[in-house]
Amino acid sequence: PRPIEALTSALEETARERKRVDVKDAVVHWFKMDLRHTDNRALALASNKAHEAGVPLICMYIVSPQDFEAHLRAPVRVDFTLRTLQVLKEDLAKLDIPLYIETVEKRKEIPNRILELMGEWGASHLFANMEYEVDELRREAAMVRDFAANDKSFEVVHDTCVVPPGNLQTGTGNQYAVYSPWYRSWVAHIHDNLDLLELFDPPAQNPGSAREQFKQLFDAPIPAAPKNKALTKEEKKRFHSLWPCGEHEALGRLDKFCEERIGGYHDKRNIPSENGTSCLSVHLAAGTISARTCVRVARDRNKTKKLNGGNDGIQTWISEVAWRDFYRHVLVNWPYVCMNKPFKPEYSNITWSYDEEHFAAWCEGRTGFPIVDAAMRQLNHLGYMHNRCRMVVASFLAKDLLLDWRKGEKYFMEHLIDGDFASNSGGWGFGASVGVDPQPYFRIFNPLLQSQKFDPNGDYIRKWVPELKDLTSKEIHDPYNRGAGPKAKKKGYPKQIVDHKSCRERALSAYRNGIESD
Ligand code: FAD
Repeated sequence: PRPIEALTSALEETARERKRVDVKDAVVHWFKMDLRHTDNRALALASNKAHEAGVPLICMYIVSPQDFEAHLRAPVRVDFTLRTLQVLKEDLAKLDIPLYIETVEKRKEIPNRILELMGEWGASHLFANMEYEVDELRREAAMVRDFAANDKSFEVVHDTCVVPPGNLQTGTGNQYAVYSPWYRSWVAHIHDNLDLLELFDPPAQNPGSAREQFKQLFDAPIPAAPKNKALTKEEKKRFHSLWPCGEHEALGRLDKFCEERIGGYHDKRNIPSENGTSCLSVHLAAGTISARTCVRVARDRNKTKKLNGGNDGIQTWISEVAWRDFYRHVLVNWPYVCMNKPFKPEYSNITWSYDEEHFAAWCEGRTGFPIVDAAMRQLNHLGYMHNRCRMVVASFLAKDLLLDWRKGEKYFMEHLIDGDFASNSGGWGFGASVGVDPQPYFRIFNPLLQSQKFDPNGDYIRKWVPELKDLTSKEIHDPYNRGAGPKAKKKGYPKQIVDHKSCRERALSAYRNGIESD
């Protein structure tokens, strides 16, 4: 069975046993990528359970160095998580709820360690929100059964998508693989089920005795980042001021975006030099805000009070948040997309170039294509890149350099503060034409035209490639072919490492040959 089915059947098959488990001394919520205390479905359920039984709620987070490795977690993302845990610990402590954080070196030991901890706390019920990556679904399916066999209950619920995967089907009963019809169905489904947008309350205050009873959990410190994921002092300073963390920051950012900028989103979202997008991806990835809240808050500002119609900026923004749901649905339906396989099997046989010098030039932002270099330097400096530029550099890596898209996908995960398996794999599938997107492989981005169209004055390039800051708006997109070669050379800016026109031909034939040999 697909991993989601393994978990769903484990939940169904144990439903009766789980219902029979009596609440003992405590109920536990296991935080994963849902680091917020408001609008958190599993946390609200755990709180209700504890409250009804009059026992304390305990919250827990497991730091797993092996998970960080397996998920290619960027050090900046690990740091953001640990900082966020501090905020969450303080928020929960105000409700007399402890947040206990422990490092478990080997991921396969996590389920047993949780059982052990629950034994120590006298806890009977564990709650968590579902994650859709294959390993997590399989692990949790086994845990659900194991808990039931140990006279405990583990309940895992949908929370991260606005519409849980599995709810939307085509007229013929299949899962959607194309965004536009899926999106229409997503909007209609939400309009028919408005409770999907309802806010979950924060957990209730624990009984006063919880402070004494679980003192050691309140006092336990937050572990440091594993050595290979630790930031340097300079990076810490930079990233902490660039990326304030926590759910209050996330909600504040959403409100400000909706107040000041969402109206202009439709027109500005593709211009990387503009502050035109929400920059909420870091929070959506850490779970410091829910997609549900994003959509609800934006919808409430729309004069139609709907997801569509009304303000162009609002509807476009909601349709972008929907992409996040879409790629999760794709991951659930075709789990191999996050296992280094192209969505379309016929794209498995392309002969990629493994030119390490080209790859290094791409990573470091010295390809001689200013828009590509600006974007890669933005990523390396901020842990973030504008969406338009993510598309440009992904296409450039796969098509112009004919490098295996998986190398780019991995580099992104290792550097993004918002690194997210489903969205990253979806984005790379789009950029390299190996994903669900129906655009044919022979539509190849021309980096020069992209640069002129989306950074017409060169402001974005000037910011990230200071060697070119004195060039005119015309010269800056292609210095060596537009008469600014000597100036660029003097400042040490490289010549183009490949010729786009011939690379385009090379890519077309490599893709064609790969598909035909399938
Ligand atoms: P906004 O424009 O304000 O959009 C709001 C939210 O909608 C985003 O925060 C995000 O959660 C969601 N969203 C918007 N566009 C997309 C999209 N195309 N796909 C999925 N969700 C979207 N996004 C990630 O969150 N993590 C990734 O690892 C990631 N990797 C990507 C790799 C490639 C090659 C490409 C082309 C795109 C990738 N994206 C990824 C999608 C997108 O680039 C970012 O979500 C967006 O740039 C984040 O900025 P923002 O929060 O200001 O977005």
